[in-house]
Amino acid sequence: MGFELDRFKGTVDPDFKCNLCNKVLEEPLTTPCGHVFCSGCVLPWVVQQSSCPVKCQRISAKELNHVLPLKNLILKLEIKCDNHARGCDAVVKLQHLAEHTEMCEFAPVPCRNRGCEDVLSLRDLGAHMRDTCEHRPAGICDSGCGLTLTHKEHRLQSHCCVRALKAHNTALQCKIISLDREFKKETIQANKREKALLAQLSAVHSELQMTALKYQKKFTEYSERIDSLTKSVAFSCKESETKSVAVVLLREGGTLGFNIVGGRPCAEEHDSNEGIYVSKIVENGPADKEDGLQIHDKILEVKVTIQRAPQDSRPNWVFSGSAADVHRD
Ligand SMILES: [Zn+2]
Ligand SMILES: [Zn+2]
Ligand SMILES: [Zn+2]
Ligand SMILES: [Zn+2]
Ligand SMILES: [Zn+2]
Repeated sequence: MGFELDRFKGTVDPDFKCNLCNKVLEEPLTTPCGHVFCSGCVLPWVVQQSSCPVKCQRISAKELNHVLPLKNLILKLEIKCDNHARGCDAVVKLQHLAEHTEMCEFAPVPCRNRGCEDVLSLRDLGAHMRDTCEHRPAGICDSGCGLTLTHKEHRLQSHCCVRALKAHNTALQCKIISLDREFKKETIQANKREKALLAQLSAVHSELQMTALKYQKKFTEYSERIDSLTKSVAFSCKESETKSVAVVLLREGGTLGFNIVGGRPCAEEHDSNEGIYVSKIVENGPADKEDGLQIHDKILEVKVTIQRAPQDSRPNWVFSGSAADVHRD
């Protein structure tokens, strides 16, 4: 629905009028056939009739378009305040009307004194409630009820304690009922919220448990993998660690061609056993041969055999030993 023609200053251009309500266009929409109407007038029409209101052709609501230049022209028209009839003389551009109405001193407001049904202009409300309202308070009843007397009751001497108390009681009961209703409504809402929160919480909890289980599983998997890796590494270490070798050496020129030392094969190898180790092999000596002794070999056992040839008075030593070592580098 558009704006009443008589609210505008001077005569309004007929192009600004809606063909349906015959008032000044409010939110103008145009049809594909070029007719313009207020959006509030044309939309229900097109939805119901599926045609242009001037009956020229069939159209659908989707085919209606805003006419911004026309709208802007109309917004510049000067219009009287909504409260003109209440006494406001303001004339503002249509685009500023809402702003003015919001703070117009002539806007209608109801009196807040209980029992008063007067509607006043905003600027008169204070004076009415304070000075002229028949229902404004006029002291406390001193006949026993202790309720507040209104000016009307005071003037007419019409106050009756019993009646006043009954009315007061009824008002209180109404208030209790409405508060109770509100309380129940809020309780229901709170319960709903609580249920929703609990559901959310349990969802989060089970998700957390699932994640924990997943990680537990992964942890076990990795632990097992680490265990098996450790085992295979230890096994391959041991493999290379010990290999028993038996070597037979014949004494040559009073020597077997190698030196031994007590302790560990290497100072930094703290975890290998103490024992007797080969520390030096004499070059081209009896021990210096392929598959023979090597430096760092551990001597496990020594067997000595003495053979005395008739023509030779010197004993011939046969050295037999077993060696094992990691450090064949
Ligand atoms: Zn209209
Ligand atoms: Zn048309
Ligand atoms: Zn006004
Ligand atoms: Zn009043
Ligand atoms: Zn009283």
